[in-house]
Amino acid sequence: MIQISPDTAAERLMRYVRIDTQSDPNSNSHPTTEKQKDLSKLLFTELRGMGLTQVETDEYGYVYATIPSNSKKTNIPAICFCAHVDTAPDCSGTNVKPIYHRYYDGKDITLPDDETQVLRMSDSPYLKQQLNHGIITASGTTLLGGDDKAGVTVIMEAIMYLMQYPSVKHGTIKILFTPDEEVGKGTAKVNLQKLGAQFGYTMDGGEAGSLEDETFSADGATITIHGVIAHPGYAKDKMVNALKIAGAVLDALPKKEFSPETTVGREGFVHPVAVNGIAEKATIQFIVRDFTVSGLEEHHRRLQQIAARVVANYPGATMQYEIQEQYRNMKEVLDNHPQVVAYAEEAIQRAGLAVKKESIRGGTDGSRLSYMGLPCPNIFTGMQNIHSKLEWISDKDMAKAAETIVHLCMVWEEKS
Ligand SMILES: [Zn+2]
Repeated sequence: MIQISPDTAAERLMRYVRIDTQSDPNSNSHPTTEKQKDLSKLLFTELRGMGLTQVETDEYGYVYATIPSNSKKTNIPAICFCAHVDTAPDCSGTNVKPIYHRYYDGKDITLPDDETQVLRMSDSPYLKQQLNHGIITASGTTLLGGDDKAGVTVIMEAIMYLMQYPSVKHGTIKILFTPDEEVGKGTAKVNLQKLGAQFGYTMDGGEAGSLEDETFSADGATITIHGVIAHPGYAKDKMVNALKIAGAVLDALPKKEFSPETTVGREGFVHPVAVNGIAEKATIQFIVRDFTVSGLEEHHRRLQQIAARVVANYPGATMQYEIQEQYRNMKEVLDNHPQVVAYAEEAIQRAGLAVKKESIRGGTDGSRLSYMGLPCPNIFTGMQNIHSKLEWISDKDMAKAAETIVHLCMVWEEKS
């Protein structure tokens, strides 16, 4: 029986969330904010303190660590657990004051620093499963930062357990803490060679038991419209205004489907994100999303057709359609290594939970890592209402996530 204390996990999380590690989408440096390194340095020190000898942190704010194998078997793949140290720029992460509500009784929780912030079971039905357990919130003016300090916490708790109980057999375990995940740069400076893992798991998911092995596949698309320019005073029957054509293209997009605001579940979409231009030339940038590459191709074909039909109404105008590949559904990689997801399911069950397989309508660092050669599904931590002042997390869910990590290390050892 693997048992990790919810109290200890909560205390650890509260220590980490007090450190401001917000990343910055407008910065071009790595890490995007220096303060992220404050947590990386603390993790470095704590890992050393737990007796790990192979620990490194670098100028970019990554932390790499290794727990050597203690098994006689020599064919166990090196498995990595990964979490991000930064918090989202959407909501303040300065002076986070975590509050531990030790025995949640189901009543509304008014956050003390802003009484308009009230956590209610009716808005957050998952709270029903936390009655008489502990939950942690912020104080009303900031996010909590459980995304992804909960991931960091559960990995650290699992390492502590493995170091304390050497009778638990495992192969080589690699740890990776990354900066800048929230601004899409979490893998920008990662050194996978140095990491030396064959398979990985990001600890960055929500409800207890959830396991995400599927993300969107993503492209960008740019439509460039060339008009015909003339002196406005003498433009009759000559000028063709590219800006007006761009407006007509946007208006011609389907209004009841094909967009983020009209799709859910496994449906993909096309979404204009920027329009730029002058009368002579205009560009419209889109993001295009689907769970399959064939779906993406179909969306591109359709979008290009809609635009071409509009542009054809303006003699003299021309258009170009360009595609930028962004990231791909991690499932395409994971399907080649079915044991990665299967072992995670087994570990979640051994921790006493039901597995909830989910798809992410977005990308994760795991999707990028999967395509960089480290197949990497995403495992729950318990975090809820992320990127908001009403963020909360249950101590019990974090403990279960840490137990799942320990079980997962054991499953890989047994089955290799
Ligand atoms: Zn996250």
